[in-house]
Amino acid sequence: MRIGIVGAGASGMAAAIEAARCGAQVTLFERNTDPGKKLLSTGNGRCNLTNTRMGSFAYNCADPSFVDSVLARFGAEDTIAFFRELGLFTHDREGYVYPLSDSAAAVLKCLVLGLRKAGVLLLTEALVKDVKQVPGGYELTFTQEGESRVERFDRVILSCGGMAVPKTGSDGKGYYILSKLGVLSNPPTPALCALYVKKPLEKAAGVRAAGRVSLWSDRVCLGSDAGEIQLTDYGISGIPVFTVSRHAAIATEGGHYVEARIDFLPEVSEEEWQAEFDRRVASANGETALEVFSGVLHEKLLLCALEDAGVDAEMQISAPAGEELSKLQGVWKLLRYRKFRVLHAADFAHAQTSTGGVSLQEVTGDLELRHYPGLFLTGEMLDVDGICGGYNLQFAWSTGILAGRKAAEGGSK
Ligand SMILES: Cc1cc2nc3c(=O)[nH]c(=O)nc-3n(C[C@H](O)[C@H](O)[C@H](O)COP(=O)(O)OP(=O)(O)OC[C@H]3O[C@@H](n4cnc5c(N)ncnc54)[C@H](O)[C@@H]3O)c2cc1C
Repeated sequence: MRIGIVGAGASGMAAAIEAARCGAQVTLFERNTDPGKKLLSTGNGRCNLTNTRMGSFAYNCADPSFVDSVLARFGAEDTIAFFRELGLFTHDREGYVYPLSDSAAAVLKCLVLGLRKAGVLLLTEALVKDVKQVPGGYELTFTQEGESRVERFDRVILSCGGMAVPKTGSDGKGYYILSKLGVLSNPPTPALCALYVKKPLEKAAGVRAAGRVSLWSDRVCLGSDAGEIQLTDYGISGIPVFTVSRHAAIATEGGHYVEARIDFLPEVSEEEWQAEFDRRVASANGETALEVFSGVLHEKLLLCALEDAGVDAEMQISAPAGEELSKLQGVWKLLRYRKFRVLHAADFAHAQTSTGGVSLQEVTGDLELRHYPGLFLTGEMLDVDGICGGYNLQFAWSTGILAGRKAAEGGSK
């Protein structure tokens, strides 16, 4: 059984090792000079390779049962065992699994050694341009050393990735190759990325604060997540913003008005919050407004709230009433709650993954295209995107292993 795999990223390398271990003769095509370029930058160079809290809850997709079925056949425990077998020790930080060395390079090294030991032929600087169905298999057309070549395989696995960080090699070429076969992809948008907003809190740029961000459009809450939010000079970032960013990208690209609402103190009840205001204001005896409200959040956020509510930070407060009291109430509200109009999500170059891709309806549970027996898809080629926490790599390993295994068996032919 000759198998051609396009793309030596996370899912392509997993597929190649598995298929070769199952006895297939495997050629792995990679357009870059080296495999796994994106893998090196994962988890800030530490590679969060999976998560022990695993399930379809962590993925955006049209068919959660599909994802659960994939994870049931190759899940987090299997990933840890797969890498242990390749020589990699891992450790678990509250469910987030990293290499013990905290080095993405170590993960890549183990995979590359695994490819070599399994006897996979790795062709680098080999850009696949076309896949053509021929009797009994597929022909891959690729360029290498300036020459165009054609090679025939019994089975082909496309592991070209999505659109995030195109300079790592995943630039949507896989979707284009498939479109020539009549297999269409849902349009990709950036995901797991920062959001650009109108009137960012420029003076609080660099501040990190715990909070909950909720995304609203047309009176519908598109998504919500809590954690450390980062204020930037262009908008908002941080893990909870990354989680909801896909919804913002899709909605803003569709021309919808999108609002991000932040609650910096989601665990404090309205009553407690109001009582705290009343207490501070009642006991104020000539302190400045800055002093009256200090100690709640980062001072830069307080200064932004004072400015936006039109209150002089140095104004002395004693028994405020009337307009003065309502302005101070406004400061208190802005200190806790912030609303931003979202202009757009960051671009693909600054996103960790992408939405869109080939619909799950197009493939069998073994990742084989229904209309093209013997042609398999893995990882971000499919319309599934995970949240932060090792979920996207887990989907890449799972789909790679299952596709590699099935392709080596001979697909559904
Ligand atoms: C900065 C960053 C940090 C991340 N951190 C994490 C993390 O810690 N945990 C996590 O779970 N996920 C993380 N991700 C997401 C994760 O890296 C991806 O979801 C995963 O790599 C997708 O695997 P893939 O095999 O589908 O595609 P990729 O890993 O993107 O691999 C695709 C490969 O195919 C090659 N290719 C494409 N087209 C062709 C062609 N026509 N011919 C030949 N080769 C081709 C590309 O060069 C590339 O090597 C991160 C992503 C980024 C960008």
